Amino acid sequence: MNCFERIAALGHQQVVFCHDAAVGLRSIIAIHDTTLGPALGGVRFWPYASEAEALEDVLRLARGMTYKAAISGLNLGGGKAVIIGDPLRTKSEALLRRFGQFVNSLNGLYITAEDMGVSVKDMEYVRMETPYVTGLPEEMGGSGDPSPVTAYGVYLAMKASWKKLTGTESLQGLKILVQGLGKVGWALVELLHKEGAVLYATDLSARQLEEAQRKFGVQPVSPENWYAIPVDIFSPCARGGILNPHTISALQCAVIAGSANNQLEEEERDSLLLVQKGILYAPDFLINAGGLINVYTELEGYSRKRALARTAYIYEATLKVFAVAEQRGLTPHQAAMQLAEERIQTMAALRTRPVSGFPCKFSSTSSLCLNSEL
Ligand code: NAD
Repeated sequence: MNCFERIAALGHQQVVFCHDAAVGLRSIIAIHDTTLGPALGGVRFWPYASEAEALEDVLRLARGMTYKAAISGLNLGGGKAVIIGDPLRTKSEALLRRFGQFVNSLNGLYITAEDMGVSVKDMEYVRMETPYVTGLPEEMGGSGDPSPVTAYGVYLAMKASWKKLTGTESLQGLKILVQGLGKVGWALVELLHKEGAVLYATDLSARQLEEAQRKFGVQPVSPENWYAIPVDIFSPCARGGILNPHTISALQCAVIAGSANNQLEEEERDSLLLVQKGILYAPDFLINAGGLINVYTELEGYSRKRALARTAYIYEATLKVFAVAEQRGLTPHQAAMQLAEERIQTMAALRTRPVSGFPCKFSSTSSLCLNSEL
């Protein structure tokens, strides 16, 4: 991979390689865009097959965070970090604290958080070396698990999508399939059960499925067969890349709204295929932003009430994206990307047109003079 060509193509402003052989640390911090604020995104600890794979992952994830923050109206940029290695074998206090020192060296340009392969306990070690950490446990003054807030945003986006299609936002009696009964999927099923939806679910864990069947009357679906089940709404809450020509051609649903990141295997191709199939797709990075909104709220001094109130805006934002897609002849995914880019550009332009005069200093004779550095 030609590193600089790839970075230029995706538009990153800074990529930092962090290395310490003594503790076995090989990490990459990617800062995509800080126009709106500090780059916030979790650190993923993963046994990547190659350095190129790790670099590609961190670049794509960081770019995704820029769009997620921008479309959600947050004053945050996009960033992400990866640590290369098997977390079960190579993770140690020293490695995590060294990583924290590298984060600290960026003076708040990048704020880190938990991601795959990293636990709350691990973040405590990172926090020992830097204040630029969010998503801490409640007992440390943090916001705790963001998943219920993420689920709330997805639930509201489902209602907005159904309203767009039928004029009513009630999900009562609708057949809804949730893929993945993890932290988000489970919280979502709880909300949908309360609303009286007819629930179907699939998960790799048979135990999880049985529990959901017992508690919420969920009808289990085999993990291999999920796209063949006719439902009103399909909610992917497990993994990315599941919407591709093969699955889209088989899908039998009117709406897709779920929490999984990067659901479209190829963004342009697959968002277009969904429109052609007549399926309304609520863009993942817009509707799963509840978790990011939650940690953003933690940075200000956490209030769950404020985090939920901000997340409620996802309902309006989803309707807006559908409206803009129609007006501009775009897919909802393209419309969401454009709106995010427009906000970044508008805010960047604000800085180039100051309304408060130029920074100035007074000479010893008290006469006003322009700052010579301008
Ligand atoms: P999780 O690990 O708690 O749960 C994932 C669940 O999906 C597990 O129960 C797993 O068994 C199941 N699963 C995995 N592969 C599957 C498959 N092929 N078929 C069926 N089930 C499968 O994860 P989570 O925190 O609930 O997150 C779910 C998704 O939402 C992820 O893609 C995550 O990146 C995304 N997301 C989560 C948050 C959050 O706040 N947790 C925020 C934004 C996005």
